[in-house]
Amino acid sequence: MDFRYVSAGSSRSHTTRFFSFVPGSAWNTLLAVKLGSPADLWKPLRGAADALLSVVFPTPCRICRQPLSTAGRVPVCSACLDSLRRIRGAVCPQCGRPQPPVVAPARLCHGCARGVYHFDLARSFALYDDAMVRLLTLLKYEPVAPLGAWFAAQIEQVIRAEPALGEVDFIVPVPLDRRRFRERGYNQAELIAQPLARQLGRPLARDLLVRLRSRPPRLKLSQRERWETVRGAFHAPAGPRVDTSRILLVDDVLTSGATLDACARALRSAGAAAVHAVTVARVLPRWESPVSGTTSGGI
Ligand SMILES: [Zn+2]
Ligand SMILES: [Zn+2]
Repeated sequence: MDFRYVSAGSSRSHTTRFFSFVPGSAWNTLLAVKLGSPADLWKPLRGAADALLSVVFPTPCRICRQPLSTAGRVPVCSACLDSLRRIRGAVCPQCGRPQPPVVAPARLCHGCARGVYHFDLARSFALYDDAMVRLLTLLKYEPVAPLGAWFAAQIEQVIRAEPALGEVDFIVPVPLDRRRFRERGYNQAELIAQPLARQLGRPLARDLLVRLRSRPPRLKLSQRERWETVRGAFHAPAGPRVDTSRILLVDDVLTSGATLDACARALRSAGAAAVHAVTVARVLPRWESPVSGTTSGGI
């Protein structure tokens, strides 16, 4: 997988960033050469720099612990990133739930047919399998901004395939409540939403949605508990910005869809005209899920 995805939106190249991490006049000289050189002259040096980096600074992949062989900013190897199971094929036209290949044309899933969700469209990048669990756990306990940017680049591709998702006025990360935000120091959904907003050229709006309380600190919740714990957990202050606006919510995981539904309800009661949602991962019901354990992510 190409780590240059990560540098989308940045004027600094892959290799320039690498050398900027390394102190010393020799590197600075090489950096000066790079800035004034044609790209083709630099290519062999970049390969050599990657090889040198893996020997001098053998940073292991944060997932599989194998040494990283390229000087990317995402601390995860390309094999681990490539192992993620991107959602392709038929999905529910509203909530994006994957459907068996025999379902053609795609039709509303059971929940959407009953009008369960208050968001208009939701899509996810990949399935919530074991590799994804470890990547999102990394993002939850450490603010690894380059990984958030990598996820944003994947979500941008999802939006390209479903352009209505990107026709919005604001990008809104699903917020943490104030206590959880203070404890963690950052919101992992915002690590994804911020670079996504930059890539889409839309403003990030943190203040349109407030979380009044967190989910209970239990790993395993029943479907009913998932819906009950988020009922009324979000509030969108009414005002001219949210009134008749179109919103794209961003979160890490879609499990039952209850969190995104609660956010959409709050934004709609404040006057939002449309609420779409994108997540990095999507949990499938146990009988069709590739994950053996329980989910500890979103609701
Ligand atoms: Zn790895
Ligand atoms: Zn659906």
